[in-house]
Amino acid sequence: MGSFNHLQEQILKLKREKNALVLAHYYVPLEVQDVADAVCDSFAMAQKAAKAREELIVICGVRFMGESAKILSPEKTVLLPSLDAGCPMADMVTPEDVLRLRAQHPRARVMCYVNSSAAVKAVSDVCCTSSSALRIARALDCEEIIFAPDRHLGAYVAAQVPEKTFWLHDGFCPTHHRVTEADVLAAKEAHPEAVFAVHPECGDDVVKHGDLVGSTAEILDFARKTQAPQILIGTEREIVERLRRELPEKKVYGVGGAFVCPNMKKVTLQALYECLRDEKYKVELPEDELTAARRSLDQMVKS
Ligand code: SF4
Repeated sequence: MGSFNHLQEQILKLKREKNALVLAHYYVPLEVQDVADAVCDSFAMAQKAAKAREELIVICGVRFMGESAKILSPEKTVLLPSLDAGCPMADMVTPEDVLRLRAQHPRARVMCYVNSSAAVKAVSDVCCTSSSALRIARALDCEEIIFAPDRHLGAYVAAQVPEKTFWLHDGFCPTHHRVTEADVLAAKEAHPEAVFAVHPECGDDVVKHGDLVGSTAEILDFARKTQAPQILIGTEREIVERLRRELPEKKVYGVGGAFVCPNMKKVTLQALYECLRDEKYKVELPEDELTAARRSLDQMVKS
């Protein structure tokens, strides 16, 4: 990370003046990550916000990430820099969809990926992250599980937990879904010495080639620790950029041409600057929704 540009300096000044905590997701632009107090996965952001002394929290990420932070810190002011940075996968499932699946499979418990709205979390039994999904599916005291919204993560978990029956909602992440097996095979052919770390939001024909299948934080950890001099990354482009900067001695390559989440790129330095300056956009949730969603998140931590 070089020296800060003018806008970054302005952001750092505002952050100090307002005693704000700025947390960034790994997929927002690196120049935004560089002015954050911490860069992490979505649930880790919510947990850090809850533990922090600061009362003003800025979540540099998409809407459901701001909601998760608000659910764990209802007494704090939680801001999102970009109002229209949503997550298409989270938007694919509604509370009504979950209730319909519950009615169809009354013996099943509902497990929902944290990449979902507060309203969907509120009608679920337990949440999971990509790194805790397997553990939670195994630990749930039931024989049937409704998994929403990511059908790819759900299928990955179902394949490893064959003793349970899974009912999958058919949502998916358009960014991870776009990568094909042909992209992976082409990258492996071009870099035959490389190991492949992939996110389980990709399809099973992509995931099956992974030397490591894991969350963003797990992919970063794997890349740092592997002895392999070349690494193929099967997740969002900003991770490739981050690793190239962090590990100049290794060769890091992305797979697929356009592995970019356009919503995460809406969280620009300008948007963050205006967010801190004007204290917008505040995340607000109805009390009952917040309480019910909190139950599902707490259940995840306890499981
Ligand atoms: S990468 Fe996919 S799951 Fe993550 S915010 Fe973007 S669309 Fe949603």
